[in-house]
Amino acid sequence: GSRVIAIDGPAGTGKSTVSKLLAHRVGARYLDTGAMYRAATLAVLNAGVSLDDSEAIAEVVAAADIQLDITDDGATAYLDGADVSREIRTDAVTNAVSAVSAVPLVRTKLVAVQRREADGAFVVVEGRDIGTVVFPDADLKVFLTASPEARALRRHRQNLAAGRPSDHAEVLAGVNRRDHLDSTRAVSPLRPAVDAVVVDTSDLTLEQVLDTLDGLTRD
Ligand code: C5P
Repeated sequence: GSRVIAIDGPAGTGKSTVSKLLAHRVGARYLDTGAMYRAATLAVLNAGVSLDDSEAIAEVVAAADIQLDITDDGATAYLDGADVSREIRTDAVTNAVSAVSAVPLVRTKLVAVQRREADGAFVVVEGRDIGTVVFPDADLKVFLTASPEARALRRHRQNLAAGRPSDHAEVLAGVNRRDHLDSTRAVSPLRPAVDAVVVDTSDLTLEQVLDTLDGLTRD
């Protein structure tokens, strides 16, 4: 079988950076499930269907070919054969992704892809529902949290570092909005699994979070 480390939590907890580095440290592959929902969202935006039309969204995503190329320092995302790694990080995608990922048939498809990708591998899987839905039998489940302010500040700095225009208050509002949508949706809402270890990263450095998780993988 596979060996799975599930890392869930809201945006801006340092989840992606930590997951990637942890995978590297323990010699596992890294699976970024958010990138898949983002690629699905890009397909929906490209098709021009309304975000209120779940049926049309499900149809577009069913027909989309979504692939992740996993290297040891991240993932390249492909939509219908084209590299969309940059496009899936735009505001347009970020603002629409919660609506697309709330559609049950979208989740059914992507969860199946995620399970297939992890089959027989040692893998760090990052997302929102990995410990609760995708891999309920994961060997280790971590739920990263942080205060909304700490999370917005991280996102804001990431934007600036990447040369993207960024307004702190706007980022905070966006983070809160997406968390609300993700945690109140009917299917697979964002929440810690009962057996997850909850780690609050607000006052921890990246190195400290990494050491904590590395320690948990050895327990
Ligand atoms: O992790 P990231 O911020 O890239 O995820 C983007 C969005 O994809 C989340 O806000 C959420 O709506 C959705 N998502 C999800 N389930 C996952 C991973 C991401 O619903 N396992």
